[in-house]
Amino acid sequence: MSRLYHPILYDRSLPVRSYWESLATRQSDELDYPPFSQSQTCEVAIIGAGITGLTAALHLARDFGTNAYILEAGRPGWGASGRNGGFCCVGAANLSNQQLIKRFGRAETARYYQEQRQAVDWVRQLATDEAIEIDAQGDGTLVVAHRSSRLAELEGEQEFLTAIAHYPCQLWSQAALADHGFRSPEVYGALHIGVGFGLNPLRYCQGLARAAVQRGATLCARSPVAAWEKDGDWHLLHTSGGTLRAKRVVIATNGYTADGVPSDVGDRLLPVISNIVTTRPLTPTELEAQGWQTETPIYDTRHLLFYYRLLQDNRLLFGSRGGTWGSEQEGDRYRRWMVRRLGEMFPAWQAVEITHCWNGLACVSADRTFHVGQLAADPTVYYGLAYHGSGVATGTWSGRAIAHLVTGKEQVADWSAVARQPLPRFLLPGLRKGYLRLGYAVGEVKDRMV
Ligand SMILES: Cc1cc2nc3c(=O)[nH]c(=O)nc-3n(C[C@H](O)[C@H](O)[C@H](O)COP(=O)(O)OP(=O)(O)OC[C@H]3O[C@@H](n4cnc5c(N)ncnc54)[C@H](O)[C@@H]3O)c2cc1C
Repeated sequence: MSRLYHPILYDRSLPVRSYWESLATRQSDELDYPPFSQSQTCEVAIIGAGITGLTAALHLARDFGTNAYILEAGRPGWGASGRNGGFCCVGAANLSNQQLIKRFGRAETARYYQEQRQAVDWVRQLATDEAIEIDAQGDGTLVVAHRSSRLAELEGEQEFLTAIAHYPCQLWSQAALADHGFRSPEVYGALHIGVGFGLNPLRYCQGLARAAVQRGATLCARSPVAAWEKDGDWHLLHTSGGTLRAKRVVIATNGYTADGVPSDVGDRLLPVISNIVTTRPLTPTELEAQGWQTETPIYDTRHLLFYYRLLQDNRLLFGSRGGTWGSEQEGDRYRRWMVRRLGEMFPAWQAVEITHCWNGLACVSADRTFHVGQLAADPTVYYGLAYHGSGVATGTWSGRAIAHLVTGKEQVADWSAVARQPLPRFLLPGLRKGYLRLGYAVGEVKDRMV
């Protein structure tokens, strides 16, 4: 697959400039995994050391003693996994509940929601089992209505999540939400979903990398796979340091899928830019002035949603969709827009300095659900991809699922119908950026409607 965006989004030599990176400098030793240097043979080769690849490697090595190699073009967590908003939440399909039921039926939709809950629980479980300090924060997830007319939608969501998903959830009026520590002139009430929390995503990735290696996996940083060919039953992954021969390959490259991965997979993916800014730490007086105390992660009911959370040192993390090219000029334009919107949504913080601003690539698919499984054309190739901006929990679930699939402990048929769909093609993949622009234009119009 050719790269859809500006080269700076793929340049591993540039600093990521995320707030998470600024906390991680003192742990840089942990980040140093030597590049792949000699030709080797292994059971399973994993391309990409994000949450999906690292979790797959950890389970393969720890639970099954499988000889797994991870080849990563940058460092562990360099992709979206180490720079995201840290929302460990449900929602790896960009479909309404009615659409899910229409497509998959009630029972399979309910199963999918149980898997999503499992995914959130497994992040906590892995962090505990492997002693990873993830800086967990908040209790559940808040979905806030950005217009009063959206409260009815949240009511429907509450009924669905209670009756079908069996999630604990409560609808809060604007006043009740203020009592729970959140106020904004653009918010009219909220649904509190009792599943989810916030974390430091880079710490999670670094911990997964350390644990995977301690459990016996081999992790090679700065080792981009430049080409991939088959020699009989063997896959040959070529890097500048040598060739890795593997019986099976896991594609865990998500929004960064480009060179080295068969274009037949890449053309089924649409990477999308997401942007984040963080403020300096807010003082108790500033928090009081805005009426914000909660550490629970929050997103709104917009089609082009904003997501935000208060971090451990009282900074605001504020995220939104990015542009459609990713150049520095476009990034500056988005930064200015986000700072303006932040001030409108949280007027007491209009003048608060922004300390960090960064972006990255998430990924969506043509059928608007996430995908995990095996290639029909070659069942020795596995993948976990297209989490629709929700890969912290679902990437963890997929990594575990891939490890169980590779070792024959689970079959695709063991998962919900949502999880086991084959990865579909985009109609005319060359038009994917056009679809994205159209989707953004429609989303903007819908979000302006009362
Ligand atoms: C700004 C932003 C905010 C987000 N916020 C959230 C959030 O709050 N919560 C949430 O759940 N999700 C969020 N997401 C989405 C989430 O981060 C992703 O879904 C998830 O991290 C995907 O994980 P992954 O391991 O599959 O892929 P990635 O983490 O993207 O990792 C892919 C890796 O593959 C490597 N790679 C690519 N090609 C090659 C090659 N040829 N050879 C070797 N290595 C290669 C890349 O260098 C990269 O490190 C966000 C995404 C972005 C960009």
